[in-house]
Amino acid sequence: MEIVTLKPVFVFSDAGFLLFYTPRPFKIRGMKKEIDTTKAARQHIELEGFLAGFSVKNPSLAEADKSVIEVDETTVKALADLRAEVEGCKQCELWNQRKNAVVGEGNAAAKIVFVGEAPGREEDSQARPFVGRSGQLLDKIIAAMGLERSDVYICNILKCRPPDNRDPKPGEIEKCLPFLKRQLGLIQPEIIVALGAHAAKTLLETNKAIGQLRGKFHEFYFDDSQPPIKLMPTYHPSYLLRNYSQDNRRRVWDDMQKVMAEIGLRMPARG
Ligand code: SF4
Repeated sequence: MEIVTLKPVFVFSDAGFLLFYTPRPFKIRGMKKEIDTTKAARQHIELEGFLAGFSVKNPSLAEADKSVIEVDETTVKALADLRAEVEGCKQCELWNQRKNAVVGEGNAAAKIVFVGEAPGREEDSQARPFVGRSGQLLDKIIAAMGLERSDVYICNILKCRPPDNRDPKPGEIEKCLPFLKRQLGLIQPEIIVALGAHAAKTLLETNKAIGQLRGKFHEFYFDDSQPPIKLMPTYHPSYLLRNYSQDNRRRVWDDMQKVMAEIGLRMPARG
């Protein structure tokens, strides 16, 4: 009698993940894209291990580095007003297909604001930024920095989901960007982290590749009357998930270490 060893295999979808036991890798048909279960399982394990080597051994160490953030009630009110405005916005065609506008969330006095490109399907459903797989990865990156999601602010260039997650059109960016600039003007962060090529190119008004832009600080001028905000471009978490390599992970972590050093956060102890 042949003994067959079954291996656990995780398969992710936007709706969550499934656990299979299988003697050999297989492909699932009937989904938008065939999923290689071996690759999906490997990614799950890597996702769990992402930056684990850098995670905070003693959270209180990083906690001690966080200065007490006083949230100004006027700013909170102004952000709430802006949210209501965005939720009723019909300035570009994207309003027509959204379930929800995804305005952004986080600390109104955050020192770091993460800016992505646009909401995806999961974000559109939940009206929250970065809640899908790439959001889980962003959470891990934030945790590896010794911070929590509630310490930072997270938003996107576009507040409504482009159909089929297509790239934002220039006209949509032009209409929506003033909302982001108002958010940044209210929050007044010390650092903007631009997640991915679209966010970095839009905010820096350049056509340079993300590989050329990341790794160093740039200046973002959101208002001629105010000093620029330092901007660190880095890879988008969804790019990392598609191009999972030790080098890419190291590059993102290097970028985040520079951000931490800039705002005076001590390096978390290696776990
Ligand atoms: S993407 Fe921006 S500009 Fe377009 S409808 Fe949504 S909030 Fe308005």
